[in-house]
Amino acid sequence: MSVVDRQEWDVVVVGAGGAGLRAAIEARERGARTAVICKSLFGKAHTVMAEGGIAASMGNVNSGDNWQVHFRDTMRGGKFLNQWRMAELHAQEAPQRVWELETWGALFDRTKDGRISQRNFGGHEYPRLAHVGDRTGLELIRTLQQKIVSLQQEDFRETGDHESRLKVFQECTVTRVLKEGRAVSGVFGYERESGRFFVLQAPSVVIATGGIGKSFKVTSNSWEYTGDGHALALLAGAPLLNMEFVQFHPTGMVWPPSVKGILVTESVRGDGGVLRNSEGKRFMFDYVPDVFKEKYAESEAEGDRWYDDPDHNRRPPELLPRDEVARAINAEVKEGRGSPHGGVFLDVSTRMPADVIRRRLPSMYHQFKELADVDITAEAMEVGPTCHYVMGGVAVDSDTAAARGVPGLFAAGEVAGGMHGSNRLGGNSLSDLLVFGRRAGRYAAEYAADRSDGGARTRVDDAQVDAAAAEALRPFSAEAEEPGAGPPENPYTLHQELQQTMNDLVGIIRREAETKQALEKLAELRVRARRAGVEGHRQFNPGWHLALDLRNMLLVGECVARAALERTESRGGHTREDHPSMDRRWRPVNLVCSLADPAGDLAAIDPERGRIALERQTTEPIRPDLLALFDKEELVKYLADEELEGLSE
Ligand code: FAD
Repeated sequence: MSVVDRQEWDVVVVGAGGAGLRAAIEARERGARTAVICKSLFGKAHTVMAEGGIAASMGNVNSGDNWQVHFRDTMRGGKFLNQWRMAELHAQEAPQRVWELETWGALFDRTKDGRISQRNFGGHEYPRLAHVGDRTGLELIRTLQQKIVSLQQEDFRETGDHESRLKVFQECTVTRVLKEGRAVSGVFGYERESGRFFVLQAPSVVIATGGIGKSFKVTSNSWEYTGDGHALALLAGAPLLNMEFVQFHPTGMVWPPSVKGILVTESVRGDGGVLRNSEGKRFMFDYVPDVFKEKYAESEAEGDRWYDDPDHNRRPPELLPRDEVARAINAEVKEGRGSPHGGVFLDVSTRMPADVIRRRLPSMYHQFKELADVDITAEAMEVGPTCHYVMGGVAVDSDTAAARGVPGLFAAGEVAGGMHGSNRLGGNSLSDLLVFGRRAGRYAAEYAADRSDGGARTRVDDAQVDAAAAEALRPFSAEAEEPGAGPPENPYTLHQELQQTMNDLVGIIRREAETKQALEKLAELRVRARRAGVEGHRQFNPGWHLALDLRNMLLVGECVARAALERTESRGGHTREDHPSMDRRWRPVNLVCSLADPAGDLAAIDPERGRIALERQTTEPIRPDLLALFDKEELVKYLADEELEGLSE
């Protein structure tokens, strides 16, 4: 049996971003002894990078706003594939979650009369995003951390130990959810610095690990986004929902390679920036789809006039929705009209005086100056689409955040599926984290309390711990395990090939043949990844960490590719060139991925055949009172015939 440190908790939260911290606070406040585990330093979660704000219909800037309008916008944004009950709860509870943050010490920007200020964002009918300049995520995390510290101080006064009821394990990676029968019994992980293994035993585990962006070559996401939580849930027996929906933001940096994918804010285009190809052409005028033709300028002159006189001119096509612009840039590059480093040119230097650019876009000015040695007041930026967010995720119960099929497992935040349907609106993630983080913490605590009352604490199965330890150690003995199979594979090479495959073959534009090719390449990578080997020892060994993360990215990649092949329509974050329209018959269809071997034994599955089973499931009918919030003419565009039949005139 492996030597492993063990501790017992009521609730274990994996992830210390907005969702994880909000869950941990709730669980602790409801009396559960709660542990939080995060891969990076406490405070350095992905949530910190959020800029624009938190969407909540407080109606501070336009009193016409309310939860029903927010619900409608969210459903439209997700092309009606959203898990509607989640969208309802989210719209109803987001304002309370923002006000609550203020009571815990957050300070949002104010309106002139002292209320929380709200800004406009794409797809939101009214100004709705509460913000703190362009660093809202930082304020959110700072506030949640401060709340955690205050709870720990309270515990110290009562018990003499700050960490008696709420403890953060930072720089620790979870590699397996442990189970007792069908139910959760804890987690297995390793300390990144020492390489030591540990088990936290608990009846409730909340997964809040964020997204999957690092499976793609170009992404705005940070190193932590390797789809760990998605894979942990799958391996524990919980299905993933609609993994084909991945959001690509049109403008990320493309050069130098070390910063490729870092976000270039939409404000650059909002302030007059134009997109040009290598021939100097403002190509977006060629990409206005029919549905938007009446709303967008037909000439450069008209588009330019809009900035000063929006009432009498139409907006330039650079300001089309994100998915349209991303597809257009992708097409220009594929047709050989890209910039030297594989993007297109985004130019503000010929549009505004240098001092105005520095004043209006200070962080972009510094970002390009420091990272790319490009002076955006004098030359164009090179930009291209960047993988930004995953709408697909763990299938959860809308009210309780309980993962489907695994008692004691919960999921919240970007790792959970359903809330955003096929496309997320900006600002709806931060509110999602707070609303469903709180719900996950509450129901995880209640579940743990029920188990304690019965007197039967969870037991950890030593065989599972040994298997998890052996799986984690495998990269150190890759060569010995398959003698004669050649030298071990380099995890960095495998990662690069995986990212390239996902980018090129299941990226913004998908085609049947390319998606099949992706599945073949992923099968090859899965076989090679079994021999991913590392040298050295377990003390801070990034190659080893990556070798372990590869399992997760390969599983997630396969889910994305299988679902993308199956859904023969284009909707939100899933564009099929061979099926370019949204097809109403697909509206009530969820694609659900689960592990081909329900026992979760990856070694038992032939990697060449694939590890994922995909199933079509019918969505729950949308509640009539929620459908009544829309005009029938609008519903006719989205709902399938059988769904329209029951609608009153
Ligand atoms: P995260 O904040 O990423 O936290 C994940 C946590 O899980 C981390 O602590 C990580 O260390 C931990 N973790 C991961 N794997 C493991 C493991 N195996 N073991 C242990 N711990 C693990 N959304 C908005 O609503 N408004 C915005 O203005 C906005 N701006 C954005 C700007 C940028 C540049 C980007 C990239 C995204 C933006 N988003 C925005 C999206 C939003 O920031 C994210 O969707 C959100 O922060 C995700 O939060 P989370 O709590 O789910 O995950």
